Amino acid sequence: MNGVPRDRRALAALGISLLYASTYLLKLAPASRSTLYFGDFSWRAVLTPTVTVVVLLTTVSMAGAAGLSRLPPSRARRLLLLASLALWYWIAYSAIIVAAGLQLSRPLKLTLGSLAAGAFAWYCGASARRVASAFRLLSSLGYALTVLAGVRLGSFPIDASEPRPAAQSTITASATPSVSEHTTAGARRVIWLVFDELDLRRVFQRGHADVGLMNFRRLASMSVHATHANTPSNATLSSIPALLLGRPISGYRVAGRFAMDMVDREGTAVRFDEEHSLLAQLPGGPDSAAILGYYHPYCDVFPHSHCERSASGSTHDWVEAASAPFGFLHEWYEERPAWGRITRDALERLPHVIDGGHALTFVHLNVPHLPASYAHPNDGLPRPLDSAEEYDRNLALADQILGRVLTQLAGVGPGESVLLIVTSDHWWRHASPRVAQPVPLMMWIVGDNAGRVIDRPVSTIHTGELVLDFLRGRVRSQAEVERWWHDKEICETWFQQ
Ligand SMILES: [Zn+2]
Repeated sequence: MNGVPRDRRALAALGISLLYASTYLLKLAPASRSTLYFGDFSWRAVLTPTVTVVVLLTTVSMAGAAGLSRLPPSRARRLLLLASLALWYWIAYSAIIVAAGLQLSRPLKLTLGSLAAGAFAWYCGASARRVASAFRLLSSLGYALTVLAGVRLGSFPIDASEPRPAAQSTITASATPSVSEHTTAGARRVIWLVFDELDLRRVFQRGHADVGLMNFRRLASMSVHATHANTPSNATLSSIPALLLGRPISGYRVAGRFAMDMVDREGTAVRFDEEHSLLAQLPGGPDSAAILGYYHPYCDVFPHSHCERSASGSTHDWVEAASAPFGFLHEWYEERPAWGRITRDALERLPHVIDGGHALTFVHLNVPHLPASYAHPNDGLPRPLDSAEEYDRNLALADQILGRVLTQLAGVGPGESVLLIVTSDHWWRHASPRVAQPVPLMMWIVGDNAGRVIDRPVSTIHTGELVLDFLRGRVRSQAEVERWWHDKEICETWFQQ
């Protein structure tokens, strides 16, 4: 690199740094529809890390190149050059894979990348001129991929059109509650517990002598238990908004930061927000609701609720941006502990949220969702070997959590009437990816322990309406809960691709 003018060296170093940054930018672009909803597509998440990384890397590259050029020609110098070339080659390889949208398995990506990097290093090892031209090539590639990333991000497919004006939420059990209904609202509470990916058959229809699941069984025996309940969709992203809007869906589209429109069966878009949701219909308004959740940006969607949200494992941050080309490392060091942390946070907060005395307490827990070994750091047992065993471990944790909730609710005062609803957003999809399966739906009015079974199909999309009718004193016993479901429409589960 002797004799290369300083400005040309700076341009080359900048190109090399842009190569690194473009890996992250390109990675973000195709995923940005949902990324935007989670609020990651922000100044902080995109530009700040990009500029920081580029400035740092350009400086380091220039210093490295200057340092290497001062070393006398030797075997060590050549090895250093080749090592840095191989590293940059790996980054270019990652960027090209992302740019081309290739889905390679991790072992295949590692094997192909290592082989090609080795061949490249062997080719360049023979001559210093080849090394210099390889760096120039990588630098030009950096500029080209950054332009490509810019174009892709610029053409980000946000549907800017306003959704068609929608009617109010279909949860309209009583738009104008009578005075007497208001007076009963204070003493009535609902706790709506959504266990992510809780599968009815896995909980109730296997032997499970090993797993136990005593609390699910106990609740089933003393509550109104629907044994054929289906969910609005097959995925958390669309199912939970549908439940909280009380509206069957046939699509969704991300409309902006923390903003998503759900498309109903008539093709009308309804914003997933406080105004259109069950919370606006509560006798005491959104302020009378508490939310404890993860994944969805609940606290931004429901700004007036008492909201707590665990950091999502899918949150992009500076560290993730900077480590994007080495995502396979990130997965091991960050993702798995993040899931365990979400569970721990939720378990710590859950008793306080349940004790909060809110008219509606909506809880969305990440157990027993797969893939995750996150039960393992919470139960202290060794990590399970296969996904079925892992799921059962997570189920056992879900059962423990339910047990704690049941114990806590046993202390409810005589002046209060509490409805506990335990259900899920979808079934265990690993066992049935294409066909909808039932999820548990158990409704227990604390103290009313005369268990009842609803064995005909029901759709959990109506749960919000039940919440309102309970809070307004229209449903007062488990017999009435059972009767309430008689005339409710069955809505087919929509499959999100
Ligand atoms: Zn889910």
